[in-house]
Amino acid sequence: MSTTATLGSCHHRLVKTRIIATMGPSCEDAETIRQLILEGVDIFRLNFAHGSHKWLQEVVHRIRAVSEELKIPVGILGDLSGPKIRLGRIAGDELMCSEGRTIRFVRSRESDEPHDLTCTYEKLIDDVKPGDRILLADGTVGLLVTDKADDGLSVTCVVAEPGVIRSKQGVNLPGVILSTPSVTPKDEVDLVWALEHRLDFIGLSFVRSADDIKRLKSLIGRHRSDTHPIVVAKIEKTEAIADLERILAVTDAVMVARGDLGVEAEISRVPILQKEIIRRCNQERIPVITATQMLDSMTTNDLPTRAEVSDVANAVIDGTDAVMLSGETAIGKHPVACVQMMQKIVHESDPLVIGRGTEDPHTHESRRANPITEAVSLGATVVADNLHADLIVVATDSGRTALALSGQRGRVPILAVAHRQDIVRRLCLYWGVTSIQSTLVRQSADALLQFVVQWGLDNDVLKTGQKIVVVGHTNWLGDGHDLLMVHIVP
Ligand code: PEP
Repeated sequence: MSTTATLGSCHHRLVKTRIIATMGPSCEDAETIRQLILEGVDIFRLNFAHGSHKWLQEVVHRIRAVSEELKIPVGILGDLSGPKIRLGRIAGDELMCSEGRTIRFVRSRESDEPHDLTCTYEKLIDDVKPGDRILLADGTVGLLVTDKADDGLSVTCVVAEPGVIRSKQGVNLPGVILSTPSVTPKDEVDLVWALEHRLDFIGLSFVRSADDIKRLKSLIGRHRSDTHPIVVAKIEKTEAIADLERILAVTDAVMVARGDLGVEAEISRVPILQKEIIRRCNQERIPVITATQMLDSMTTNDLPTRAEVSDVANAVIDGTDAVMLSGETAIGKHPVACVQMMQKIVHESDPLVIGRGTEDPHTHESRRANPITEAVSLGATVVADNLHADLIVVATDSGRTALALSGQRGRVPILAVAHRQDIVRRLCLYWGVTSIQSTLVRQSADALLQFVVQWGLDNDVLKTGQKIVVVGHTNWLGDGHDLLMVHIVP
């Protein structure tokens, strides 16, 4: 039940599955940002692989100004590149790799030899050995390492899967143990920038183990701040799949990063891995994003393919909290039409997940979920459903109770009221949670109710006679009390 209610200069919608749009030249201006937010974007992703800090700073200011003007909270996700390897410049910018041809990787930043390749990762030559595969250009071209030079300055490869490669394209080394740390020196610089600009979410690419997430969290912990961003582990390497349980124990959120996952693992396994990762995240109450090529053909075309529409719908039905657009909004021709299409697809598919949160008995044994919060959230969801209530209101300090309610995947929309704006913004990732800010939330049940009823009436979200189920704040009764109330809009 995703509805849009508009009144005066305020625009509020009650949400279910969330939408993330990647920022780029196609959507960087204030008017496009405004349209994207109005059409349903909950979070903008900044990709640190592209764009200077100066440009990123301009877009952060613009996103926040538009969000403030519309009075719609929007989160910002900073996506650290991790040990992403790219080709160096190729003489003539392009090279046809025909089957059986011999190609060398050389330890240098640049080479003018047409058959010599360079890359951004100096240690590639140390880390690979004969028999390893090197995949180029999103996995479309495959090389097999045949020999390593005695002087350690080059490796010889033979083209196993032919195709054309271009300067700066990605390099993947599936199964090769990289000696570089997952948080690179560039990531450390970008991280400080992200923390200084108070981004709400920090993603880490090419996570290999739980230790990578621990390292990122410890770097974040060193930064003096009253709040820390939500850490998103991007699952795109087979090592991360192997260490998934330990990663889930330490990360705040997960992204199924299907672009590189489809190169690092067999592409045919991507749908199965997506379903398994989402299922485990749902059980553990960890918000999960499904990303990459969701509406890829709309980067140039007006309409998506049937297969893309099905892909978005299936991600929703799998139980994802958010679906993400990449090149479609960053460099595509139709960023606004992409978000409109995504919103239409999730709107059609959302009802199919209603009730799912309570089906899985494993959730109740989850390491994450607090049993009292889970029980109260389940109770509130059942009470709201039985009474045909129109809104569940939750007073939340850290966002934890809102996350537990979101995990129930209930029919009735959830309105989370938090006293801090940064908490309001991080709730933008949670399935089914619309968030607003008010300091009244800490005062009393009466103060919160008056505020919410007025907000609901002003924004056409509530009408006289409708029922609200309120999950209360522990402050109202003293520490440790969870509270459930039913209120009828006067
Ligand atoms: C991906 O690989 O799917 C992904 C989301 O990462 P990036 O867009 O940074 O390559």
